[in-house]
Amino acid sequence: MSRGKRPKWMIDIAIERMDILFSRAEMEFITHPERSNRYVELALKLSTKYNTKVPDKWARRYCRNCKSFLKLGRNCTVRLVNGEVNIFCGECGHVMKIPYHKEQKNKRRAKYESRQKGNDE
Ligand SMILES: [Zn+2]
Repeated sequence: MSRGKRPKWMIDIAIERMDILFSRAEMEFITHPERSNRYVELALKLSTKYNTKVPDKWARRYCRNCKSFLKLGRNCTVRLVNGEVNIFCGECGHVMKIPYHKEQKNKRRAKYESRQKGNDE
């Protein structure tokens, strides 16, 4: 397989597989947290390989820094600070800052987002 853009059906399959992996990570987290981290790792590999994003519903469920699966009330804390969702990773102490309601507020956020450089992906 050459580099570059993948056909849509292939990306769809990759997304489906990432969804399955994250669902399993969620299911097994309580009993086998180390497996959860392995599932995250596999899902992120798919994401890189198929050059596609982690599904939105899971994008906040792992640490961007140490790649641990995050479960609210277990190993992460979520707070709303100045209109941003701050996700604190209990494994490595990394804080991910995610603009709150970023789609709805796009129009009046130009100024705000210029301060947020490089926080995405
Ligand atoms: Zn972390």
